[in-house]
Amino acid sequence: KKRIAVLTSGGDAQGMCAVVRSVVRAGIYLNCEVFGCYEGYSGLVKGGDLLKKLEWGDVRGWLSLGGTLIGTARCMEFKEREGRLLAAKNMILKGIDALVVCGGDGSLTGADLFRSEWPSLVEELIEKNILTKEACENYRNLTIVGLVGSIDNDMSLTDTTIGAFSSLERICEMVDYIDSTAASHSRAFVVEVMGRNCGWLALMAGICCGADYSFLPEIPPNSLTWKDELKEICKRHKEKGRRKTTVIVAEGAIDNELNKITSEEVKDCLVEIGLDTRITTLGHVQRGGTAVAIDRCLSTLQGVEAINAVLENTPTTPSPMIAIQNNRIVRVPLVDAVSKTKYIAQCIKEKKFEEAIKYRDSTFKE
Ligand code: ADP
Repeated sequence: KKRIAVLTSGGDAQGMCAVVRSVVRAGIYLNCEVFGCYEGYSGLVKGGDLLKKLEWGDVRGWLSLGGTLIGTARCMEFKEREGRLLAAKNMILKGIDALVVCGGDGSLTGADLFRSEWPSLVEELIEKNILTKEACENYRNLTIVGLVGSIDNDMSLTDTTIGAFSSLERICEMVDYIDSTAASHSRAFVVEVMGRNCGWLALMAGICCGADYSFLPEIPPNSLTWKDELKEICKRHKEKGRRKTTVIVAEGAIDNELNKITSEEVKDCLVEIGLDTRITTLGHVQRGGTAVAIDRCLSTLQGVEAINAVLENTPTTPSPMIAIQNNRIVRVPLVDAVSKTKYIAQCIKEKKFEEAIKYRDSTFKE
């Protein structure tokens, strides 16, 4: 029987539990054995109890849960070759040569590196007499399949990432709560949302909550004029009879000269036009709670596709990332998705904002 490990890595996201459930059950259904790798890549590096076979019933009830019940971690050891050597050893000892990784671009970069190094890691294990040649006989190649778990919706080549819509839902719920107070007291709220290089959450929150203004990294306002513009827009809305004022600020908001735009600065502008203003930084509530329907659906369908991709993999197939494009679950080369994602971050750093948007999903273009 083919043995496959599944792990969740990097920042947690709603839907990661549903991914594990789907991978485990699709694997069992297609006659494989699936191992849960606990605590991200630490489970591979440490092995033992952290690499545990999961049965159908072990993932019962995981479909809707937030976070990840097999744990996630930032594993520094895995960034070093020495750590990846231990990971290869532990996998071979358990007879595992396929890995389904659900995480962000960091986790998927690590996975791809691990695969490309695998044959040389196996050689090293034999040379150093850690494992015998016979023990490694059937494990000369590693299969990697990536799934994107990220609340930021920050991965290229996929329309959405697992967790993004749940996180957006949390933001909407929280802004709705705040709105009650805002409208009652005729107050202004500056709401800070997550998203370092990617303003998808801030953009969508602005649309879904009917905000007066959103600050996002890909469409930065003019450094010299944004304060006046913001004041002018909020004042106009107020004059037209709007009681509340809502401004969304992405964690990574900047102006077109790359100066960080802070919630404090935004607040100061609103105070200057006479608004009683509060800042709310939503923080980790954005990662919390159950997965919304679209994330449950995406996790389940993509988990099944991940197992299909494992079973169809050959030593020469580039590692696939399971994506969704135009409402279809598709496979794209993992390296392409990761390099395009990194390219966007680079474009922003170099003030090539239009180029950055070209590689974002369609929401930004429209
Ligand atoms: P995300 O996957 O959400 O982008 P990180 O960038 O923190 O999150 O990566 C999560 C984990 O993936 C890291 O702690 C590390 O174990 C592994 N990882 C990230 N980048 C690499 C890399 N270049 N090489 C090897 N492992 C990596």
